[in-house]
Amino acid sequence: MRKRLIVQKFGGSSVANVERIQNVAKRVAAYKKKGNDLVVVVSALGDTTDELIKLADQINSDPSEREMDMLLSTGEQISVALLAMAVHKLGFEAISFTGAQGGIITDAAHTRARIIKINTDKIKEELKRGRIVIVAGFQGITLNQDITTLGRGGSDLTAVALAKELGADECEIYTDVEGIYTTDPRIEPKASRISAITYDEMLEMASLGAQVMQSRSIEVAKKFNVPIHVRSSFSDKPGTMIIEEVKKMEEVVVNGVTLNKNEVKITICDVPDRTGIAAKIFNQLAANGVSVDMIVQNVSRLRQTDISFTVSKSDSQKALKLTKKVAASIKAGQVIEDHDIARISIIGVGMKSHPGVAASMFETLARNKINIEMISTSEISISCIIKKKFSEKAVKVLHEKFGLAK
Ligand code: ADP
Ligand code: ASP
Ligand code: MG
Repeated sequence: MRKRLIVQKFGGSSVANVERIQNVAKRVAAYKKKGNDLVVVVSALGDTTDELIKLADQINSDPSEREMDMLLSTGEQISVALLAMAVHKLGFEAISFTGAQGGIITDAAHTRARIIKINTDKIKEELKRGRIVIVAGFQGITLNQDITTLGRGGSDLTAVALAKELGADECEIYTDVEGIYTTDPRIEPKASRISAITYDEMLEMASLGAQVMQSRSIEVAKKFNVPIHVRSSFSDKPGTMIIEEVKKMEEVVVNGVTLNKNEVKITICDVPDRTGIAAKIFNQLAANGVSVDMIVQNVSRLRQTDISFTVSKSDSQKALKLTKKVAASIKAGQVIEDHDIARISIIGVGMKSHPGVAASMFETLARNKINIEMISTSEISISCIIKKKFSEKAVKVLHEKFGLAK
């Protein structure tokens, strides 16, 4: 019988301390014992990445992105070595690799690099020797030998890309919750686990703030049809399958509620109402790698208008600098930044065929005295920008309204 190949990824909380690393080692060894081939991807211990970012900030608030990657990649290098040692201690053979050693080749877009290709020869060689191969998540190397990272949460991407490239039989993402829930179970204890979810819905949830899976990893999984099993590293219970299609007896209208507190709103006041002005502003941002999210342009009074948009917190300083420059060049007014915002979203494929979902969302927020500052919609989601202080309340009332509570 052909050996099964399993790719398992363990997130930061699953390897946060010695005991948990030993727990992961035991789990990995148990799978190996069953005769499977195993490639294990690990994230940095606990909050290491956040701590390294804070440390860098104390040295230089505008650090070089290349050096940032040199720094952040060290987190995962610690985890792989420790996990390999823990596996050895259990009497199993294992070898740890950095992203570079694992053959993960990326472009040079430091801090958000894209995987170009994976040379799996070295991994395959070690698997053939019967070893458990432990690969550092979240990192790769350019053809120029510079270390890169794949964006926050990037270990998910490492795992999915390796599963695809190695033709793995299973891709398991182990985390600190028992799968994908209707909303963040840390905010709403009544959230329920979803047993299966489509790539499209998961992608929408991930890009709208459900940090449990990195959205780019879902893009890759969808593109190559890699089924993912998200489950708890602390139990053996089945979690959530992320797959192409989920057959339901009856379409659920709303499948999930997400919250994103990592966006900043930038407003340019008194923008002259002339053709090509919006292009000028957003071209500047795009050319500098800043992706803009929601955009609202008010109706023009006296041939002037205000334009607001949101960007992710990590891009906000860069975006602000660029926007101020463009604002001056087009003779617009003040540029204001607002950090006191949160994005609340509802997601569901069923929305396509059910009118009135948006109205129902707005009405629920209004009834709870939550003012909406911006709105955006896609085919399968509706998002509102609200004040941060209403975040948790908004999650709960919408979760309740759309019948998602346990
Ligand atoms: P890891 O360290 O394993 O990568 P993350 O912290 O990145 O874990 O993601 C897991 C966390 O995502 C959970 O602890 C949970 O609070 C949060 N989360 C947000 N939305 C959801 C959701 N819809 N379902 C499950 N978890 C969610
Ligand atoms: N350690 C990285 C981060 O915190 C990558 C990951 O955890 O997936 O973003
Ligand atoms: Mg994660």
